[in-house]
Amino acid sequence: MALPGVKYLIAVASGKGGVGKSTVAANLALALKMLGQSVGLMDADIYGPSVPTMMGIGMVDQSTTPFPVEKYGIKLMSMGFLVDPNQAVIWRGPKVAQAVAAFLSQLNWGPLDFLIIDLPPGTGDAQLTLTQQAPLTGAIVVTTPQDISLIDARKGLRMFNEVKVPVIGVIENMSYFIGDDGKRYEIFRHGGGQKLAREGAVPLLGEIPIDPRVAECGDCGEPIVSKYPDSPVAAAYLKLAQVVVDESKRSAEHAGLPEVQL
Ligand code: ADP
Repeated sequence: MALPGVKYLIAVASGKGGVGKSTVAANLALALKMLGQSVGLMDADIYGPSVPTMMGIGMVDQSTTPFPVEKYGIKLMSMGFLVDPNQAVIWRGPKVAQAVAAFLSQLNWGPLDFLIIDLPPGTGDAQLTLTQQAPLTGAIVVTTPQDISLIDARKGLRMFNEVKVPVIGVIENMSYFIGDDGKRYEIFRHGGGQKLAREGAVPLLGEIPIDPRVAECGDCGEPIVSKYPDSPVAAAYLKLAQVVVDESKRSAEHAGLPEVQL
């Protein structure tokens, strides 16, 4: 499967759910856009799509709307545009893989600098098939500072290693909290992302602070980077996006990063 006109196809993954993978994928996409990149975001979570809620788009009339749809200047696709979120999709694995392959190959994504794929959480069969099928140029693993999520995140790194997809790096989400006094508070034990990155010999791309407005924005259909561009979280995402641009270019120039060592 080839994706003509897409320069970097990047999967955002996590070892388990709830670490903020979808939130990171959406805000990273928007931050890349703010840096002047052309960007798409594809929701590969067929059973539990997050992009519709986060981007404030419900079901779409397929007969009148061309896919991918566009909002906040980025191209979007999700199963949630096609199926009522209250009607759970109960497909088996192969059909899910087919749907994702169709999203990738049958839609007119290009020309794009970045197409970000929000992978379903976990490292099971479905995720493995997806990472094998899509012509990924790189992967990003999202983790939180706690050890328990690190155990799962390691599995994420191993999965990409297995399918020979270069890992661009690790993002630590919910990393710290910035109080009204402007000080940085480390609520959870700090350094999980750094530890994982070191173990896998990949870069730590960024650390995103905790902010209740992230969840508020996720529910109101406009991610924080767009709604509160002056917030510390938005600043962290812009910094992260620049690192992702640089690392993607660097890895393309070197035709692949060194293998993850785990
Ligand atoms: P995942 O995709 O890993 O399952 P989500 O992106 O759905 O996780 O995020 C889980 C919850 O955590 C959501 O309610 C989201 O708004 C919230 N969240 C994510 N990142 C942050 C953050 N940095 N600060 C505060 N809340 C966050």
